[in-house]
Amino acid sequence: MTQSDITYVSHLECSNCHKTYDANKLTNLCPQCNKPIFVRYDLNAVKKRMNREEISSREPTLWRYHELLPLKNPANRVSLGEGNTPLIKARRLGKSLGLSNLYIKDESQNPTGSFKDRGMSVAVSRALELGVSYFCIPSAGNAASSLSAYASFSGSLAQVFMPEDVSRTFLVECKNAGANVALVKGTIADAGIKAGEFVRESNSFNISTLKEPYRLEGKKTMGYEIAEQFGWKLPDVIIYPTGGGTGLIGMWKSFDEMEKLGWIDRARPRMVAVQSSGCAPIVEAFNNDLYFASPWENPKTIAEGLRVPAAVGDFLILKALNESKGIALSIGDEEIIQSIKEFGQFLGILVSPEGAATLAALKKLLRAGWIEAEEVVVLFQTGSGLKYSHLLDY
Ligand SMILES: *Cc1c(COP(=O)(O)O)cnc(C)c1O
Repeated sequence: MTQSDITYVSHLECSNCHKTYDANKLTNLCPQCNKPIFVRYDLNAVKKRMNREEISSREPTLWRYHELLPLKNPANRVSLGEGNTPLIKARRLGKSLGLSNLYIKDESQNPTGSFKDRGMSVAVSRALELGVSYFCIPSAGNAASSLSAYASFSGSLAQVFMPEDVSRTFLVECKNAGANVALVKGTIADAGIKAGEFVRESNSFNISTLKEPYRLEGKKTMGYEIAEQFGWKLPDVIIYPTGGGTGLIGMWKSFDEMEKLGWIDRARPRMVAVQSSGCAPIVEAFNNDLYFASPWENPKTIAEGLRVPAAVGDFLILKALNESKGIALSIGDEEIIQSIKEFGQFLGILVSPEGAATLAALKKLLRAGWIEAEEVVVLFQTGSGLKYSHLLDY
């Protein structure tokens, strides 16, 4: 093995039935039980090889955590500079809410303006390494834009399926990056059915979130990053806008990995999943103490990334919420618009409706006494509001 071939991946493991698989084979859902598959690492070997202190001097992308990522050969990296986003202390907004430690993780500063780039950089790189050159994805918008960019940059093909009422910017981004775009009647769930059919009839690879193991690995780097940015301590509360939940599940996975590496202690943030009241299957399942969520009928919300009526990883989201003593709650579209405006007034940034929902959720939790004034709170601002400027009536 040469230096360029080092990987610490030990195997793949089903998140549900725990059956293990060879990590050198291209994989989608668990063939046994149809649930998401996780990547497992030889963390003891990583621990011997490196320490957390050396990370700060590395390149300013998520690839600085390469020992904890699945790629074998760095030459196969498809990177547009994703990750390493700022953690902004929101002093003025915090003060107005009576909070002294409020932070915004601003994921809009990724290459295509959302945190989807984290998952896509890692998953496209690894798929290319395993021989894929044709990708297919169902998406509410940002994932399609992101895949289109990484496919273009790597010289591979992308076929995307999006709801027909998707915001125009997403369509423009995909087409401009050379992707083939199909618009589908209905929601991302209907786009998912079309994408599934397309994959069966073509030689393309389905890179739909959690239906392959590697987008999760890219998104988990948000957990590594906030730990690093807080000096290897985790915040008390993380508020996350939840559609498919990949980021939330990924961060939860990263915390376990970091504890095993000896980088953090056992303390965990309370994880908060925010959904839209027009599409809140996880909130419904959480409130009824269910293991799986039921598909949401007639999902409707301006927060396109939250219009996910059924999440493949529903049980993993619910597990993280429960284990962390967290909570799930939903926010109406009017409150979301109001929160976009407040982000502008207090921080100057134009946030996505999904990101805005976290502020509305924070206010609800403060009113309920669920968060205390001194607690360290992180809101995930997951995407750029530039793609949604039509929502504001100025
Ligand atoms: C996709 C998306 C979400 C939801 O992310 P998940 O990890 O799938 O829950 C939230 N915000 C934005 C801007 C998105 O594009």
